[in-house]
Amino acid sequence: MDEIARFVQKHKFPRFDLKAVFFDMDGVLFDSMKYHAYAWVKAMRASGIPFTEYDCYMNEGRTGESTINEFSIKYRGHEATEAEIESIYSLKSRYFESCPAVEPIPAVLPLLKKIKEQGLDIFIVTGSAQKSLLSRLNHYFPNIFEKDKMITAFDVKRGKPDPEPYLIALKKAQLEPWQALVIENAPLGVQSAVGAKILTIAVNTGILENKVLADAGAEVVFPNMNTLLKHWNDFYE
Ligand code: MG
Repeated sequence: MDEIARFVQKHKFPRFDLKAVFFDMDGVLFDSMKYHAYAWVKAMRASGIPFTEYDCYMNEGRTGESTINEFSIKYRGHEATEAEIESIYSLKSRYFESCPAVEPIPAVLPLLKKIKEQGLDIFIVTGSAQKSLLSRLNHYFPNIFEKDKMITAFDVKRGKPDPEPYLIALKKAQLEPWQALVIENAPLGVQSAVGAKILTIAVNTGILENKVLADAGAEVVFPNMNTLLKHWNDFYE
């Protein structure tokens, strides 16, 4: 595939030799972004910050604190206080919890099964700080994920868009960047993976234009998970 050849050449890697696939979670495994967006818009506006759904998709992956501060500076000219951050974030969580149950992204389970059958390792690399993440993942995707193959908010200092989470994943997997592949849906997640020099596929499950994900550095952008499933053997057979 041309994109793989270009990627290898760009980084002067010896080859592309896939051993593990790193999955982001929100917007890749779970169709959760629409509810996060709803909750963020409501919570920010309650504090007078005119945050939009588009802002939410553009900032996906950033920590709650960083998102609140960035938009507080933008619209009010100063950072939010700790108490404001706490109050906006807890309101956001309450709105999110009031949303319907989150469903898996269509076609992601067959893709995960296929990758597992091919003998590749599967890691999850998420900024999420949910405590019961593994049991939730096991409920929707039985026998796919393992406890020692997850990088969450608890493992990182800086988080996406910094390359840190994907560098930690490479270290845990004991792999070189040319032995892994990332599946992301958000521009900051793509930036993080590209910063770790890993081949990055973006699947556009949200409201942004494909171009935003390509500009963030994704080698390939698919319009949905089903298209990636159909083209999976271009990356590994
Ligand atoms: Mg995501």
